[in-house]
Amino acid sequence: MKKRALITGVTGQDGSYLAEFLLEKNYEVYGLRRRTSTPNYENVEHIKDRIKWISGDLTDLASLIEAVRTSNPDEVYNLAAQSFVAASWPQPLLTGHITALSVTNMLEAVRIVKPTVRFYQASSSEMFGKVVETPQKETTPFYPRSPYGVAKVYGHWITVNYRESFNMFACSGILFNHESPRRGLEFVTRKVTDGVARIKLGLQNELRMGNLDSLRDWGFAGDYVKAMWLMLQQDEADDYVISTGEMHSVRELLEVAFNHVGLNYEDYVVIDPEFTRPAEVDLLLGDCSKAKEKLGWKLDVGFKQLIEMMVDEDMKKVNKIIQLSNMEVRV
Ligand code: NDP
Ligand code: GDP
Repeated sequence: MKKRALITGVTGQDGSYLAEFLLEKNYEVYGLRRRTSTPNYENVEHIKDRIKWISGDLTDLASLIEAVRTSNPDEVYNLAAQSFVAASWPQPLLTGHITALSVTNMLEAVRIVKPTVRFYQASSSEMFGKVVETPQKETTPFYPRSPYGVAKVYGHWITVNYRESFNMFACSGILFNHESPRRGLEFVTRKVTDGVARIKLGLQNELRMGNLDSLRDWGFAGDYVKAMWLMLQQDEADDYVISTGEMHSVRELLEVAFNHVGLNYEDYVVIDPEFTRPAEVDLLLGDCSKAKEKLGWKLDVGFKQLIEMMVDEDMKKVNKIIQLSNMEVRV
């Protein structure tokens, strides 16, 4: 019989890659979709008809109970969140409701309807925040630096607590930043690769940025969703850091992206205080030895390859926008 998975956040970056990966493994994939006035299917357009859609919202326990009942899943991947750090200062309560407290909603729905489910929680390296050791691993103490980071710490510990209290198979994946052509435009990698494409193709002449010195451990989302699945295939539930073990600055990101189309970032980047944060996470660098050893997980796409792939995809997207607007002018 086919295995069944329920994914929250399936329309997001990770949800779309995970859905593809599970469909390839012959899973029946159920996707939780919240009601929006304009549905957002961009990331899953190509697999939209192969996903079984369930309406619900992470903040609404009744809808999650119904979602678990309807899908009767073997595995639940809880990826839905208010996921943008910078938005968590102007919207701290909403971030707390969705990214923190609603993890308990999802865990409760599983506990009430089908406690044997294997559960994955999308935790984050942002929990390490003002890092107390480098590199960061599973045992590194948390010191979150944003309402988002604080919310993710709650989500992490409530997952551990349900595992220990109710003997549930609940895993927390502490994933470092991971990117792709499907990353939201507000995140720094995508903002840069989209900006580079627009500058190269003449739609924009500058790129306004915040802190260029901050350092991140950036990997490819397509590699990271495999680690989520691997965690749920083990004999015992546990928590794992997933990272590349390499750190690069925002400045290096700019260099790679602009150089790829033959431009110098210094000619276009303008520092704008609007994009600096009330409290910064200066550096993140993960040690994923545990995942390599126990899960046999490995990554395929490195930093330069990732950024160049994103620039190439954004060049295609921006070119399409230009062609469409030229057609409109002719009509
Ligand atoms: P995205 O922002 O791309 O996707 C977020 C998803 O959550 C979207 O599908 C969104 O739906 C959904 N969502 C938001 N609020 C609700 C709600 N109230 N009810 C139901 N669904 C909701 O995030 P990513 O794919 O990048 O990340 C996936 C998870 O991993 C998130 O929890 C994120 O915090 C975490 N994470 C991500 C990292 C990264 O580098 N990408 C690093 C570490 C952790 P809609 O389409 O309707 O907006
Ligand atoms: P985060 O690590 O989850 O906060 O991911 P982001 O991609 O949003 O930000 C990564 C780093 O890039 C942070 O240290 C930001 O301060 C820094 N950064 C510098 N300029 C910008 C910008 O214009 N937008 C964003 N989103 N981040 C920026």
